[in-house]
Amino acid sequence: MPLYEFECEACGKAFEVLMKRDEEFPSCPSCGSNEVIKVPSLFGFQDKSTYREERERAILKRARDYLIDGKLKDARRFIEKAKEFHPTDRIKRLSETLSEAKPPKGGFIIKREATILKKKEG
Ligand SMILES: [Zn+2]
Repeated sequence: MPLYEFECEACGKAFEVLMKRDEEFPSCPSCGSNEVIKVPSLFGFQDKSTYREERERAILKRARDYLIDGKLKDARRFIEKAKEFHPTDRIKRLSETLSEAKPPKGGFIIKREATILKKKEG
């Protein structure tokens, strides 16, 4: 069984769980929240910088998923938390962008942001 690493969205706790690929995500051992994200495990990465990039990518992707769904508030809340335990430049920048974003008119702003973020990610 592979070892997966998770990070709790609610409290920022990182933890590892042995589980099958199709098993449901575990809840946070620290606060019990079900809002956890799967992050790439350190195992298999040659160096720490690759690991950090992969983790950053996972966080940005999650934020982008919120934006694509039109959940600006959730995206904001998520990225604020993520910034606390994983403060990279890109995550800080996204956090600033989101906190400045005006209330969407017919979802236009959100849609545009999602597109821009998508482009940046390549
Ligand atoms: Zn937690």
